[in-house]
Amino acid sequence: MNREELETHNIHVHSFYEATAINPTNHSVQFVNVVDGATESFNYDKLIIATGAHAFNLPIAGNDLDNVATLRHGKQHQLMATVKQANIKNIVVVGAGYIGMMVSDQLSQFGKKVTIVDINDRPLSTYLDADFTDILNNHMREKQIAFIPNTKVESFSGNDHDQVTAVQTNHGVFDADLVVVSAGTRPNTDWIGGELTINERGYIVTDDYSKTSNKDIFAIGDSTEILYNPTHQRMNISLASNAERQARVAVRNLFEQTKPIHGVHGSSGLQLFGELFASTGLNTLTAGRSGIDVESTYVEQVNAMPGFSKEPAQTVRFKLFYAPKSHKILGAAIMSTANETQQINIISVAIQMEMTLKQLADADLFFQPKLTNLWNVINVAAMRALNN
Ligand SMILES: Cc1cc2nc3c(=O)[nH]c(=O)nc-3n(C[C@H](O)[C@H](O)[C@H](O)COP(=O)(O)OP(=O)(O)OC[C@H]3O[C@@H](n4cnc5c(N)ncnc54)[C@H](O)[C@@H]3O)c2cc1C
Repeated sequence: MNREELETHNIHVHSFYEATAINPTNHSVQFVNVVDGATESFNYDKLIIATGAHAFNLPIAGNDLDNVATLRHGKQHQLMATVKQANIKNIVVVGAGYIGMMVSDQLSQFGKKVTIVDINDRPLSTYLDADFTDILNNHMREKQIAFIPNTKVESFSGNDHDQVTAVQTNHGVFDADLVVVSAGTRPNTDWIGGELTINERGYIVTDDYSKTSNKDIFAIGDSTEILYNPTHQRMNISLASNAERQARVAVRNLFEQTKPIHGVHGSSGLQLFGELFASTGLNTLTAGRSGIDVESTYVEQVNAMPGFSKEPAQTVRFKLFYAPKSHKILGAAIMSTANETQQINIISVAIQMEMTLKQLADADLFFQPKLTNLWNVINVAAMRALNN
């Protein structure tokens, strides 16, 4: 919706206003106009904070050099314009999470030397097990993207013009004309001061109704944490889908808290190097970090009955995580060159409904020889897990 359409819904947008303080006693928020410096305050009966997060720039020497960049919304075009410059030959990407990998995939198309450095042993380690990331590693090798695992970036150094020239790590030095730091985010909550309870990680503390420590103030999105069902704990999961859910919960509970959030599973998906993948809930790494025992089954099968479709059948790789004793479903990941990503939503619902392997094995999932294999890969994984 544009500004005019929003006005018809009685929603008034004030661009270029930065919130600088809240005064809960007189129900007002202080703003500064970032264009002319004028200050103004707006009163509220109920306040919803959605100030999001900013990309985390590593607190190391050289992080302010030219061509050391972080990535947030709307900055991709700017970055790609820099990348196209002839003098940019070596690009180092720090962090092999969603953003770092997405950027590396794009950067590799410009014929530059791309090196990804990550402190973990594989890319996307909190989403995907090695069964999947080994495939991404193969693609990266083919595209001559160097992935440097288990490596910590220690500093950036530059030339006399303050332009970055190299990245120092505990495993050597890498030439760099451009560095993209994609090492996570930090919440935009400094401006709140001591007016609301902020946790030790800097996020606004909210309850199951998106309500903060003040009964008239709600908070949603990347500046908060959200209930994560697989561990029953709150954590920050920076996803628009989560922000949307929290927004809905906040609005429904503004005046009377009756409809709590059901929790989320971090369901997300991406396309990289021609592979389409999605994951939800726990994987081996995140289960271990949370101290949760999981078992898993890994299945590969084609996505249609061979010979029935004009299109060649594509391999689908699927891994299911479950609790060893209760058999409750705790997570899954799927990858294929065909778009099978929506299947992960079945597992997200299974986690939400606390379904077991038996229920998933028996789930009625359709068969059509041109469109599916005889058994859906989810049924197969659950059946195999039960036979283990
Ligand atoms: C490159 C990229 C790709 C992504 N892709 C996906 C995806 O495919 N699917 C998905 O679910 N999620 C995706 N995400 C995550 C998603 O964009 C965020 O989780 C979501 O935007 C969070 O919404 P938010 O409202 O909390 O914060 P934001 O969208 O970051 O909005 C916060 C707003 O608050 C403003 N602001 C900050 N401080 C102040 C202040 N003091 N005063 C006034 N205004 C302020 C900011 O300028 C900004 O406009 C992606 C993120 C990135 C960076």
